[in-house]
Amino acid sequence: MSGMLYLVPTPIGNLSDVSQRCRDTLANADFIAAEDTRVSLRLLNHLDIKKPLVSYYEHNKEQSGPKIVARILEGETCALVSDAGSPAISDPGEDLVRLCAEAGIPVCAIPGPCAAITALSISALPTGRFCFEGFLSTNKKSRRAHLDALLGENRTMIFYEAPHKLRDTLKDLSAAFGEERRISLCRELTKLHEEVLRMTLREACAYYEAQEPRGEYVLIVEGAPQVKEEALTEETALTMVARRIEQGMSKKDAVKEVSKLTGFPKNALYEAALK
Ligand code: SAM
Repeated sequence: MSGMLYLVPTPIGNLSDVSQRCRDTLANADFIAAEDTRVSLRLLNHLDIKKPLVSYYEHNKEQSGPKIVARILEGETCALVSDAGSPAISDPGEDLVRLCAEAGIPVCAIPGPCAAITALSISALPTGRFCFEGFLSTNKKSRRAHLDALLGENRTMIFYEAPHKLRDTLKDLSAAFGEERRISLCRELTKLHEEVLRMTLREACAYYEAQEPRGEYVLIVEGAPQVKEEALTEETALTMVARRIEQGMSKKDAVKEVSKLTGFPKNALYEAALK
């Protein structure tokens, strides 16, 4: 009979956030698959748990994943941990879960710390409907496509971001959604320097011009106001044109690309852009 895969969430800062169930699962597993074995070893030492560790991360998942699946199929129980938070949320755990599901292996997710949900809950922005957007790509084209797809998004949006990319991301969010859109910047959650800044995108850009971004961030961005579909289409298309021009494209090329993407006629778009 096959064993089992357990998804074990780990603290995103505060070590006291490991639940008893997580401790027990780690202690009872046959082996632990970890994103960075050094990071997980520190946690296991803190919990006084000794277990064989195998490495499973972005750049070895193609080789490591099938080996883990084979061991589970032979009857072993694996606990999967990531560096911090819930495995499979913006980390390669998602592929291991798929491999196990395809192989008919039972997967059990233990609830626990997740930076996205922790940040959303203290953002003071609407939590009734939200979407998780993870990290924006560093590739200009896919970044633009990602933000374009979110222009009319009404739900509260959740982004992960690293400190050295924060300034550029705030500028891009502001260009896409407008300076007056509200944002909650949730930094170093559950850690000593936990901080939540609730402001507009304009204020956030200005704040971080003067202040060096430090630590880990979750950005919670207010959704677009509800507007009529037709108004949204024209406004969205024009915003897309304006952003391309700001980024150095000629007006002609910007109109051509946006017309292709949205199906809006080139002439109408060009005329509206001139205005
Ligand atoms: N699986 C994790 C989870 O459940 O939250 C997320 C993994 S993702 C690779 C790492 C990102 O999560 C960081 O770049 C940051 O955006 C966010 N993050 C993790 N810990 C955080 C913390 N203590 N405070 C704020 N953001 C955090």
